[in-house]
Amino acid sequence: MRRVIRKKLSGYVFGIMLCLLGFSVLFVVFWKAWSSASASADFFSYLWSYILTEQVNLGAVGTLRLTYLSVLGAVFLVLGVYVLVFSRQVLYLSGGSVSLQCPYCRNHWRARRAMGWAECPYCRKFIQPQVMKTGS
Ligand SMILES: [Zn+2]
Repeated sequence: MRRVIRKKLSGYVFGIMLCLLGFSVLFVVFWKAWSSASASADFFSYLWSYILTEQVNLGAVGTLRLTYLSVLGAVFLVLGVYVLVFSRQVLYLSGGSVSLQCPYCRNHWRARRAMGWAECPYCRKFIQPQVMKTGS
C-alpha cells in the first residue's frame, strides 16, 4: 500500500515538474520576445514574427528556433496537466476498493480506504486491519 501511494505521488510530482518546465520554457520565449518587441509600434505582429523567425543559441548543441521551443513548452505543459489529471484519477479510483483483513478472525471486507484502526465487522474487535490488495 505504501509503495502504491509513493508511485502515485511520484506521478503527481512528475506532472507538476512537466508543468513547471513547460511554463518556464514558454516564459523564457515570451520574455525574450517581449524585450525586443516592446519597442515596436505594432506589438503583436512583431511578437508573432519574432517567435516565428528568431533562433536561440544553445552553444554546443546549435541553434533552436523559438517556434520549436514554444511548441516544446506547450507540449510539456499539456503533458504535465495530463499526468496531473491522470494521477489524481488513479488516487480517486483506488480509494474506493481496499480489501482489509482482520488479524484475529482472518475475515476479509472491503473499505473505502485503508484505515489505521477499525472495528472488525465479524468479530467486533477493535483491530489494526491488514491491507490485502488495492485495485479498481
Ligand atoms: Zn475479526
